[in-house]
Amino acid sequence: MKRSNELILVISLILLSAQITLGQTTFGQTTFAQTETIDTAMFRRIREAGLASSRIPMLAHYLTDVSGPRLPGSSGYRRAANWAVQTLKQWGISEAYTEAWGEFGKQWDLAEFSVALKLPYYQPLIAYPEPWSGNTKGRQQAAVILITSKQLMDTVYLKEHLSLLKGKILLVYNNSNKMAAGYATTPGRLTDSVLEHIEGQHIVSRNEMETIISRDSILVAIDKMLKKAGVVARISAPGNNVNGVVHVQSANGYKLSDPEMITKISMSFEDGQRLARLVRSGQRVELIINQKASVSTRDTKGYNVIGEIPGTDPVLGKEIVMLGGHLDSWASSTGATDNAAGCIVVMEVMRILDSLNVKPKRTIRMALWDGEEQGLYGSYNYVKKHFMNADGKPNEANQKVSGYFNLDYGTGKIRGVYAQENKEMIPVFKNWLEPFHDLDAKTVSANSTGSTDHESFDWAGIPGFQFIQDPVDEVWTHHTNIDDYDHLQIEDLKQAAVIVASFVYQAAMRDEMLPRKEFVKKVFVFDGL
Ligand SMILES: [Zn+2]
Repeated sequence: MKRSNELILVISLILLSAQITLGQTTFGQTTFAQTETIDTAMFRRIREAGLASSRIPMLAHYLTDVSGPRLPGSSGYRRAANWAVQTLKQWGISEAYTEAWGEFGKQWDLAEFSVALKLPYYQPLIAYPEPWSGNTKGRQQAAVILITSKQLMDTVYLKEHLSLLKGKILLVYNNSNKMAAGYATTPGRLTDSVLEHIEGQHIVSRNEMETIISRDSILVAIDKMLKKAGVVARISAPGNNVNGVVHVQSANGYKLSDPEMITKISMSFEDGQRLARLVRSGQRVELIINQKASVSTRDTKGYNVIGEIPGTDPVLGKEIVMLGGHLDSWASSTGATDNAAGCIVVMEVMRILDSLNVKPKRTIRMALWDGEEQGLYGSYNYVKKHFMNADGKPNEANQKVSGYFNLDYGTGKIRGVYAQENKEMIPVFKNWLEPFHDLDAKTVSANSTGSTDHESFDWAGIPGFQFIQDPVDEVWTHHTNIDDYDHLQIEDLKQAAVIVASFVYQAAMRDEMLPRKEFVKKVFVFDGL
């Protein structure tokens, strides 16, 4: 299967080379070069290097299987970050290093974990620990008590029933809890009609964040109360944890100021439903739980990975084109589609450009960001430190950043790009995508899109963009126990690397920096939260 795909790509590559040659000689001026000249010869070389001698399978293996889960601050994150630096250096990218972006918090590394049904009969259950949640007192056997999510959030109710909860395992149960309807379990490809009107992903507002955080702080206080009352663990088994796929994340517990949390577990929906039915029919239901993680405060800083190909032009060399994606992941698998995928593409772009020995006029700088899942920590603090003055206005270095290209919408191939309401970028992107129509990338959306690291650049007034990608994996694998290598679409990642490398190269070589929107000073959505 893979071999035949590769063959098709090689054939289309040959066909495209012919088209480009034709375009250059016959239509070069009218079709491709209305706004700027595209270096089609270099685009072709990038294609060859990206499709014929890809290193993507190797990059994917090391960033997922070998590194393990990349929770910020964890050993897995550090393994991945250090490996990325070493690999860039081996390729000859000498300007490669990790850079602290600020204080993250605790280093949490899971050492042991198991959950099994003990009574009425023994059976292992599908369940995972929420990151940064507290350890059990060794291997504990305890009875299960049902509690609705409404009762859980009702402090008056809880206080009345606290004495009954001592030594018990709470299973948070919702009466209306049922499988999420129409839950996507198959790969998705964007159709032309969807692409035509594609909307960006939701951009969380400061107000929404404040609401989420205030609700979460109530839950933190409740968990504290439960822990003090001697509750063994709190288990949730929501309706989207179906078919063996379990979503596992946590909003808190990593900050130095956070107290040690109660043991929190995310369980498969079906296992949770079975436990609930058994309890309701009066069966004696007991689980055996063991959760042990090491928690360290030896190094509380967070780190981004930076790599650079210096610009060669005496003037333009001081200007920068950036690309990046977040390296951190959740911890129940190896974060392959969210977001090793983006990091694999970013590293492959650097490898391709370096292997072609390009001499970019502008400096090309890549970043693998830390702490994206907690609130774009790595990218925001990097941008704030390097490109902003203390008064919240762009500094001199900011004016030298031409643009930033982000990858974080999964493993699906690139279908186009969001112009982030930067009208002047629309014709530029259309022009750049012209040679990639045969690879299914042709859509330029005027819309803004959110929920990832280009927002940090957009906040600073730097043109920051995220690509439109096929939602092959978006709902299905992200933040789950199945976000592993096998869900990566290797051929899609090769396509993405070719397009991003070409975009970055073109941005580094064109006469002008990329056009900007007007800068509006505002508080960053996650600042200080
Ligand atoms: Zn992500």
